Order: sequence, then C-alpha cells, then structure tokens
Amino acid sequence: ENLSAFLYRKRDKPPRCDIVLENRPIHEPGDKEVLLQMHSVGICGSDVHMWMDAHIGDYAIKNPVVSGHEAAGKVLKCGKNVTHLKAGDKVAIDPFYPLSTDEYCKTGRYNLCNHYYFCSCPPDHGTLSRFYTHQADYCYRLPNSLSYEEGALIEPLSVAIHACRRAKVTLGHMVLICGAGPIGLLSLLVAKAMGASQVIITDLNQNRLHLAATLGADHVINVEQNKSPQETAMHIEQLLGGMPDRTIECTGAESALQTGIYATISGGCLALVGLGADTANVPLVNAAVREVDIVGVMRYCNTYPTAIQMLASGQINVKPLVTHRFPLEKAEEAFHVAKAGEGIKVMIKCDPNDQNP
Ligand code: NAD
Ligand code: ZN
Repeated sequence: ENLSAFLYRKRDKPPRCDIVLENRPIHEPGDKEVLLQMHSVGICGSDVHMWMDAHIGDYAIKNPVVSGHEAAGKVLKCGKNVTHLKAGDKVAIDPFYPLSTDEYCKTGRYNLCNHYYFCSCPPDHGTLSRFYTHQADYCYRLPNSLSYEEGALIEPLSVAIHACRRAKVTLGHMVLICGAGPIGLLSLLVAKAMGASQVIITDLNQNRLHLAATLGADHVINVEQNKSPQETAMHIEQLLGGMPDRTIECTGAESALQTGIYATISGGCLALVGLGADTANVPLVNAAVREVDIVGVMRYCNTYPTAIQMLASGQINVKPLVTHRFPLEKAEEAFHVAKAGEGIKVMIKCDPNDQNP
C-alpha cells in the first residue's frame, strides 16, 4: 500500500484542486535510483499555491500529481549502479535535478538548466507518499545525529544558503531580510552563520517577528507601523547604526522590493528571493546611481553537502521552525494550517510506525 497525497484539479475557483489520498504502485528503483520509505515532508508555500491555483507560472495541473518536495526518508532498496548508498541509510532528497548536461550544468549552475525533474511540479510527482523512488545522486546521506525533519528542512535551507551566497554575505555585514516566513527565517540563520554582525528582519506578522527575535535577529520591524518604503529604510538605518550591506528580499511584495532598494547601502547588494507579481514598480534609478547590485535567486545549487555540515556541526539549528505535525492521512488538514500561516513549518509524517521528528 503506497498511500500518496495527490492534487486533483476540480474547479475554477480556489481551492482549484482537491487533496486526494490514493494508493499508487511502488516502483522498482531503476539502475541509478533508490526506493525510499518516506518519513517527513514539509509543506512549502508553493505546494499551497498549487493546491489553490492548480498552476504555478506555466506549470499547470492536468493529470493528478503527488504533492511535496521538502523531504527526507530511508533507503529501502538501491538500483544496481548505486554505490554511495545502502539500505537503511537516512537521506535528504534534493527534489530538483537536471535531465541534461547543458552548459549551465557543466559550469555547476544546474539550477538554471531548462530541462529538469522537480518533485511536485506537474507532471513530475512529489514526495508525499509512503514510498517514493528518486535519482540516487540527488539523495544525500544524513548522519544519525540529524533527524528526518532536519533533512526535510534542507530544501528551504538551501534556498537561504543560495540567496546568501548570491548576495555575497560575509564577515561583519549588516543584513536586512524582508519577510519572516520560513525562507526569511532560514536566511537569518544562514546570514548569521556566514558572519553577519547584525541582522534586521521585517514582516507584518508579529508572531513571526517574535520567532525571528528568538532565532537571533538583532532587530525586528513590523512594517505596518511604518508609512513609506523610504521611511522604513530610514528606520532600518537608525536601528542598525548604518545602512545594510546586503538585503535578502523574501516576500515578493512590491513595497518590500522598494524598501530593499532604498535601504541597501551604496555599492551593496539586493538578492531577490521572493516571487510576487510578474512586474513591479521599483526605484531602479536609485539602485543604478548608487550601484546597488540586484541579483536573482533560482532555488539553489551545490547546497546539500554544505547544509548537512552546517546542521551536523550545530552551526545552524533549524528545529525551532517546525511548529506543526500531521500524519499523511491528515494531509488536507495540514495544508489548511499551512495556508493560514499561523505556524512556520508544517511537517507531514509519512511513516505510520515512526512519527518522531
Ligand atoms: P511566506 O509567505 O511564508 O513568507 C513571506 C512573509 O513575508 C510572510 O510572513 C508575510 O507576512 C511577509 N510579508 C508580506 N508582505 C510583506 C512586506 N511588505 N514587508 C515585510 N514582510 C512582508 O513565504 P516563504 O515560504 O517564506 O517564501 C518567501 C518567498 O520566497 C515567497 O515569495 C516564495 O515564493 C519565494 N521563494 C523563492 C524561491 C526561489 O527560488 N527564488 C524559493 C522558495 C521560495
Ligand atoms: Zn518549496
């Protein structure tokens, strides 16, 4: 029995999909694949988005697709060409892998490859199942000291690592993070680990700001209390005692993009992680004449080994981000909680015999 949480396109207004629990066949692993017993799968904002809208950008649900891409599980069986894993290994799944070896892949930027598999992005099935097969080269063994949930959190942690690398965060930097959702909070942890001297984080949600403070944010700002992006930028400068060297934008909101540009120091860098409307009205000339570099962030590449080392050494602790847990049978309830945004990370537990972290 391979119980799996599918999204079925059902109607023309949100939620456009139903979350349907159905058994699907357990696939034999191919030569380069492993069969995994899934343990923990985090719900990402994009999973909720897909449930509500039945599409993300050009990727639309036509046939039912299994949801979930922040995942960790246990190896049950290895294909015959798999040498680096064995049955019983605990692994984190990198849900994204290129299907070609184009120039981006050759230079190590495989996240830019146009021909890829991405768990839960239609038509590619995701990980919200009891059992799932994946490319072995994109399964990373976890030390026993790490939990499956920490393994599942490596996916969003990877986004944060890639964002801080793209922004070139380094020793002594003052960093502004817009948005205290999972990605913003993980960026806070990564920026601190990379040597940031002060991190300031913004949000509209006081509970999330509160958590940010307990996770080590030096300053938090509830932007509701501020009027214009320029005023918010000045407030940020006052609190830090200077303008931030780096800004990691993790909301996609137009006002936060504007604040990000105004706030960042001349010669600094603004990394765009948040994905909002296709176009936004932003003060580009302000960025141009002050040489504020604006860099894009597309998921991540080459982050899993780094993330595992950071977690295993205790330099980053992601455990406080998990606020809710549901068994796979209650996937729909879990999605409702994730959508309400009351917690931070909602985990779905796929192993009926082990619902531990
Ligand atoms: P989230 O929705 O949980 O968090 C966003 C937070 O921003 C919320 O807490 C919200 O209250 C806050 N916010 C909204 N408007 C704001 C404003 N004007 N100022 C300050 N805060 C504001 O989402 P998340 O899972 O943390 O992801 C953050 C963003 O990153 C999303 O836009 C997501 O699509 C994007 N993302 C991008 C990539 C990538 O590869 N570029 C990968 C993952 C996620
Ligand atoms: Zn995601």
